[in-house]
Amino acid sequence: MTAQASPEHFDVVVIGGGPGGSTAGTYLTRAGMSVLILEREKFPRFHIGESMLPHSNDIFRELGVWPALERAGFMRKLGADFATANGGRFQRFWFRDGLGSPYAQTFQVERSRFDEILLDHAAGSGCTVRQEARASELNLGENETELTYLWRGEQRRARCRWLIDATGRDTFVGKKLGMPRIPTQSDRRIATYAHYRGVGRNEGDAAGNITIYRINGGWFWFIPLDAEKTSVGFVQRNDDAKASGLGPDERLAQIITSHGAPRVRMQNAEMIGDVHTTADYSYCFENFSPHPRVLFAGDAAGFTDPIFSSGVMLALKSGRLAARAISKAESERRAALPASVRRAYTKEVRRMMTIYVKLIDAFYDDPSFEIFMHPVPKLDIARAVLAVVGGLTEMPFALRWRLWVFHFLARLQRRFQIAPKIDFAAEQGKPRTPAPVAAP
Ligand code: FAD
Repeated sequence: MTAQASPEHFDVVVIGGGPGGSTAGTYLTRAGMSVLILEREKFPRFHIGESMLPHSNDIFRELGVWPALERAGFMRKLGADFATANGGRFQRFWFRDGLGSPYAQTFQVERSRFDEILLDHAAGSGCTVRQEARASELNLGENETELTYLWRGEQRRARCRWLIDATGRDTFVGKKLGMPRIPTQSDRRIATYAHYRGVGRNEGDAAGNITIYRINGGWFWFIPLDAEKTSVGFVQRNDDAKASGLGPDERLAQIITSHGAPRVRMQNAEMIGDVHTTADYSYCFENFSPHPRVLFAGDAAGFTDPIFSSGVMLALKSGRLAARAISKAESERRAALPASVRRAYTKEVRRMMTIYVKLIDAFYDDPSFEIFMHPVPKLDIARAVLAVVGGLTEMPFALRWRLWVFHFLARLQRRFQIAPKIDFAAEQGKPRTPAPVAAP
């Protein structure tokens, strides 16, 4: 291994070229700053997180990457289907019905291609992008940060005034600083997933919908990726996975055959590629700006259960916020982010994450899920929940009070049965409805 003689200088180094890193990089280079994005992998590479939310659309448009996403021919996603494991309870949500939501559509994406488009776009916008460049050492000096990274067999150094950690679940800077990861859910969970061809599909406008099947203690996802490929996975408690004594492949096969509706959809399915797992996946740092010249974006700040497909949208929004905070400090000729700006950044990103953490808790809580599956037709409560399911994180009072009513009804359901009960064990068995899924 050789070492580079003198370090290169950039205004900003972004570690991680996923959606959070590419977004932050593109905004920053547009603001006139020199930006280096370091990405450990060579794109295209497999990544999970394939179902988008329509409220990311304005960021794609602002970035100027929307035409490239349209050209890529990704599957159009107009809504989301939620069902119990035998399809006996079924709710279809169309994004166009979301309260105050201007967006009716988003995409289901194969992340290898999607992330490559965003990263290429960042490069095309002016960022210096290095792939197969793994950040290894971090030195937070008084006025500058120095990063050491490995690239093309060479140990290199880059110096910058601002640093964005967008390394996803690797949480590079959080680990380097020894920051504790705080769990955001009481149960530790594991996801097991793979791509298949020949999976049963919806028809018509619902062909691109995600389907979520709620099972005892967990859930399945079915995400149509293109004309033949579907992403299928399930989430369960770590303890249940361990107790099964099975490896990931056997677990996936076993759980599909023991749940009616997924089994029917999978009867002619054939796996493409490998089975993957992600364990212990919900966490959050206390502080998303642990140093006056460092911000965390996307999963590097925290990760919430992906039931509502919020991860990429949160990565894009936090990437944009991080870029705005740095651009503003730069335009004010500051050498560091004021404490108030760092606090406001953490608060805002946490506020957005918390909206989903609350909805996720409701999803896992049986009485709340019963309310979710029997939307209140009055007062636009269901449309408010749907707006959040579509990725709306700005919370005017009109949305806030309706969400409050939703959570209040969920609490009432525990004591008085205001929505029909769901017997999850009974719902697990034989499919009650024709394949592939029940009609709404
Ligand atoms: P990432 O996309 O993880 O990108 C981080 C990048 O940093 C990677 O490319 C990595 O190679 C690079 N990197 C890491 N360490 C280094 C280093 N030392 N040096 C250089 N580069 C480095 N989200 C959704 O929106 N919809 C979904 O349907 C969805 N489903 C999910 C299902 C599961 C099972 C899981 C686990 C997650 C799911 N997510 C979903 C969440 C989604 O995957 C993430 O929220 C999203 O990818 C976050 O983007 P990011 O840019 O923060 O991180």
